[in-house]
Amino acid sequence: MTIERIIKKFTDNNPEADTNLLRLAYEFAEKAHEGQTRKSGEPYIQHPLHTAFVLAEIKSDLPTIVAGILHDVPEDTAITLEDIKKNFGDEVGNLVAGITKLGKIKYRGVERYRENLRKMFVAMADDLRIIYIKFADRLHNLRTLEALPEAKRERIAKETLEIYAPIAGLLGVWRLKWQMEDICFKILYPDDFKKLEYKYEVEKKAERNQFFQRIKKIIDQEFLKNHINNYQIEYRFKHLYSIWQKMQQKERKFDEIYDVFALRIIVPNIPDCYKTLGIIHTIWKPKINRFKDYIAVPKPNGYRSLHTTVFGLGGKAVEFQIRTPEMNEESHYGIAAHWHYKHGQKGGLNPEDQPQWVQKILEIKRDNKDAQHFVQEIQSSNIFQNRIFVFSPKGDAFELPEHSTSVDFAYAVHTDIGNKLTGVIINDQISPLEQELKNGDLVEVVIDKKRPGPSSNWLKFAQTKHAREMIEKNTQNPIFGRIKNYFSKE
Ligand code: MN
Repeated sequence: MTIERIIKKFTDNNPEADTNLLRLAYEFAEKAHEGQTRKSGEPYIQHPLHTAFVLAEIKSDLPTIVAGILHDVPEDTAITLEDIKKNFGDEVGNLVAGITKLGKIKYRGVERYRENLRKMFVAMADDLRIIYIKFADRLHNLRTLEALPEAKRERIAKETLEIYAPIAGLLGVWRLKWQMEDICFKILYPDDFKKLEYKYEVEKKAERNQFFQRIKKIIDQEFLKNHINNYQIEYRFKHLYSIWQKMQQKERKFDEIYDVFALRIIVPNIPDCYKTLGIIHTIWKPKINRFKDYIAVPKPNGYRSLHTTVFGLGGKAVEFQIRTPEMNEESHYGIAAHWHYKHGQKGGLNPEDQPQWVQKILEIKRDNKDAQHFVQEIQSSNIFQNRIFVFSPKGDAFELPEHSTSVDFAYAVHTDIGNKLTGVIINDQISPLEQELKNGDLVEVVIDKKRPGPSSNWLKFAQTKHAREMIEKNTQNPIFGRIKNYFSKE
């Protein structure tokens, strides 16, 4: 990797930008890492350069890419964070500081997982760009894992699948998510990976291409007749890890999953999307209940496309996604609706049920139709301002407004937990219920199953609407009780 390639990638999207800082960062980092090598034997500077290139690929802003080049300097060399701040300013300095903090994890096992996750959320609240740098750093480390001993390799792969990939999905950096997942899959289940890869890349390849060409020819002809120009038909590659996951979850065979042949058609505008749908339904019979209009009614995560499954040639099912180039770009940056994000007990299908910050991301997405602006806006926004993340003993993350207390936390976990709450342990310390929670706190609730209900006193410090409503609803009101008794005696 060279600094020239990074600069080229960056200026592709930012033709006017001054790239001097990139070159300076490169010279600075190269000098700092001089004489250091990676386990593979190559000069250390290659790692931060690859990291920065990945960041340029996902259209990061300049400070993020500069920080990517510098990200291992304070950790591995004699140069300090102060030096970096002095040379590159506070913004870059804070990003590098954030990455350095993420790297220091003391524990092992479950504790490690928890601490890791906690740090990710805290960093996210600090500056979302730190997480992007971390993903890029991790992706390059995964690509060069061969040089490490097996046990370490597996630990890194597991950690990536458990923590990094889901968060990447949540934030919509799909490209990085899939790449990370496929590398981890290969490391953790090498036999399954090889088998699937063979089936997919070798056995089915000819069949797939042939089928694709036949369908494409038919569509080309119809589009010509109907005057649809400037379109693109793509075969949708499925990621090996996602195929494998489906096989595990539903105990289905490869062929059952593979058998659905998936194509994507990209047409210039929305009227053309509907026209295309009409053409496809005229040629082939649609499968009932498989048609979805996510253009008129976008998915809660903002995703837009038309979906339909038809019976194609020889009775084989073919799945179509029809969308505009803009929708296609957007879909690369979408937010996973099915991430295991704990937010009360709700399913997350209703937009109102989503965590506030996810909603905010969606708003930005609606206002910034082109992908590059969207990413820039997200990266520099203060979505996480006034929000904190706290953790259950199992490591589940809960998002709450600032100044929240254990009462808010308990009701966010479950109404019954809130109603039966009697005490709380915050970071291994018995604490009063009214104590304000801080970002990153580990919160363990103490409940008493016999407790009749919440105390109206809690209203003095409960913050969330949900907790306040639940307290009001479930409190035994002594006066009201007496009145009721009085009347029932009549
Ligand atoms: Mn690194």
